[in-house]
Amino acid sequence: MSRRSKMIEKIKDLMYQPEYIRNIGIVAHIDHGKTTLSDNLLAGAGMISSELAGDQRFLDFDEQEQARGITIDAANVSMVHKYKDQEYLINLIDTPGHVDFGGDVTRAMRAVDGAVVVVCAVEGIMPQTETVLRQALKENVRPVLFINKVDRLINELKLGDDELQQRFVKIIASANKLIRNMAPEEFKEEWLARVEDGSVAFGSAYHNWAINVPIMQKTGITFKDIFQYCRDDNQKELAQKVPIHNVLLGMVVEHLPSPKVAQAYRVPNIWSGEIDTVEGQGMISTDPDSPLAVMVTNVSIDKHAGEIATGRVYGGTIEKGTEIFFVGSMGKARTQQVGVYMGPERINTDNVPAGNIVAITGAKNAVAGETITTYGTKIAPFESIEHISEPVVTVA
Ligand code: GDP
Repeated sequence: MSRRSKMIEKIKDLMYQPEYIRNIGIVAHIDHGKTTLSDNLLAGAGMISSELAGDQRFLDFDEQEQARGITIDAANVSMVHKYKDQEYLINLIDTPGHVDFGGDVTRAMRAVDGAVVVVCAVEGIMPQTETVLRQALKENVRPVLFINKVDRLINELKLGDDELQQRFVKIIASANKLIRNMAPEEFKEEWLARVEDGSVAFGSAYHNWAINVPIMQKTGITFKDIFQYCRDDNQKELAQKVPIHNVLLGMVVEHLPSPKVAQAYRVPNIWSGEIDTVEGQGMISTDPDSPLAVMVTNVSIDKHAGEIATGRVYGGTIEKGTEIFFVGSMGKARTQQVGVYMGPERINTDNVPAGNIVAITGAKNAVAGETITTYGTKIAPFESIEHISEPVVTVA
């Protein structure tokens, strides 16, 4: 079997095991390294060739977006990562970083259960970092922190060990202040970013390495070594020892929840219906046999396949060749194909169960934010989308 067919098999197997799925977003202030990180995660996980990462921006395919240099369109890519002998399917939803697209950010955030918050070590937490972190917490999305561009602190700013630590402490404290304020009551402590448990990682997306405390303990690599690698212009070796995809995807699997865990507390927050109904309970338990409930996060046009609606399946199973109903616009359509993602590619399957990110071909006239169910079924829509605007005051 070719490597490609094996990967398809793996993904088709994992999509039926929601405990081994992670639906995540990467959020950041502009220029803090979200694109570089996404590309290098995909390349590291073997989902695109490493030559392409850096040159080709899979997440930034829209021409308008290229021209403006900001992310507008929410797309999805997936990767398979092995952690402690178990494979996981990690779906990465692109969350637009620009505040003008607050609605899109919220929508993308509603499709994920966890977020990697990228913070540039040089600039620290910026207003937009706060905005996206707030958005995440408001949607009950659990955050982990990645402090990026550490190479610049060492090689450009020439900071010493103490100064480096102080910067990190300040960034983590600011993030935790927001988490303490905005995380769901029952998770205020659990969700704090903690250096010691590995929910904070440090590294360089550009140079492809990252480290957190559990990896330091495992590899014996210390901050002293990191200083040395950076100063010796030998970050390549560091990237071989602690590749960014390994460290960050490990952190995602370990600290961010599976749909099975997350839907139980997220659904009452993001869905407007009665929880004590068949469909409510189905979503709470990520049940593939309950009524279908999909939230559309993005609609794009494919040259060959036409309109593609991407969304999160919260309840039931979506099948190809069936009639679907749009709850908001009360329209109907027939699914031509349904599929999941492998890297940036769509892989068609017969059906896609709860917990996954689905790509639907044939969902004519679907719009982002729409709720889809099967024709003839009545369910409540996901809540109306509220925008959060840029905060005026920043957290000190
Ligand atoms: P985005 O706007 O958050 O998607 O940021 P990009 O990924 O496009 O990165 C912005 C700029 O920072 C680019 O020029 C990157 O090459 C650079 N960059 C990203 N990560 C790092 C890093 O870890 N170290 C250094 N030195 N530069 C980085």
